[in-house]
Amino acid sequence: MVAVKIMSLYLVVFIFLCYLALTKCIFYRHGQTLRKSLKLVLNVSSSRDTDGADVRALLVTAHPDDECMFFAPTIIRLVELNASVHLLCLSEGNYYNQGDQRRQELLNSCAVLGIPASRITIVDHKKLPDDPKAEWSISLVSSTIVKHIRAHSFNMVLTFDGRGVSGHANHVAIHKAVRHIASTGQVPDDCCLLSLVTVGLLRKYISILELPLSWLLPSCLCCIIGSQGYRRAKAAMLCHRTQLLWFRYLYITFSRYMFVNTFQIIPQGPKNLKIY
Ligand SMILES: [Zn+2]
Repeated sequence: MVAVKIMSLYLVVFIFLCYLALTKCIFYRHGQTLRKSLKLVLNVSSSRDTDGADVRALLVTAHPDDECMFFAPTIIRLVELNASVHLLCLSEGNYYNQGDQRRQELLNSCAVLGIPASRITIVDHKKLPDDPKAEWSISLVSSTIVKHIRAHSFNMVLTFDGRGVSGHANHVAIHKAVRHIASTGQVPDDCCLLSLVTVGLLRKYISILELPLSWLLPSCLCCIIGSQGYRRAKAAMLCHRTQLLWFRYLYITFSRYMFVNTFQIIPQGPKNLKIY
């Protein structure tokens, strides 16, 4: 009986050490693989490593706080690589009439993450209210995004996938709009579209323990941050003071989106398709 207990203890310690070794290995290799993934998604044909300065990324979100709640690892890693990262937030988060305050919170959060105010656009349109029950017009969202892509010559657009991470209708509407512009050929040739993978509830809330799964499962782009990046993501979250309810602290502690983001490519249809 004692021997079985000792064996079980050894097994647990062994599994724990294997996990630590795997995590260490992931952090060690991540910088290299991130550059390779960026090169692949941007379809860069030269043999040199894609340096971050080649990346002109547009992050499209629905509400102030989406940027740090869901996309912090990506923003932090791209900024570290000297990429030019812009944010298009399609509402000012006015659900509780706190729009002005939330606008400022967004600017503060982005400053922490490394996006200057000059690269942030916050849309305040009566047809795009912060409201899970509101159905955003796909054509309005699409045209807003397309105009922005063309005005700034972005070569990468990042947004939600069809499940919107939290399932919020406004997140899902953005994904539908991006799929629409992808399928109607309105995206410039050199621009790739990426959607943030929504994971199930268990994977979502096991924090850094989820890292090996995200690393090993196939994705087009995987952005991981370590303890220093996590501290920055947390500081950005704390900028959204109006949102700091008790469950937000649980989110900061347990959500894997505070450590890792994985993306899939949104396929694009034929270019310059005219819709009659
Ligand atoms: Zn949101």
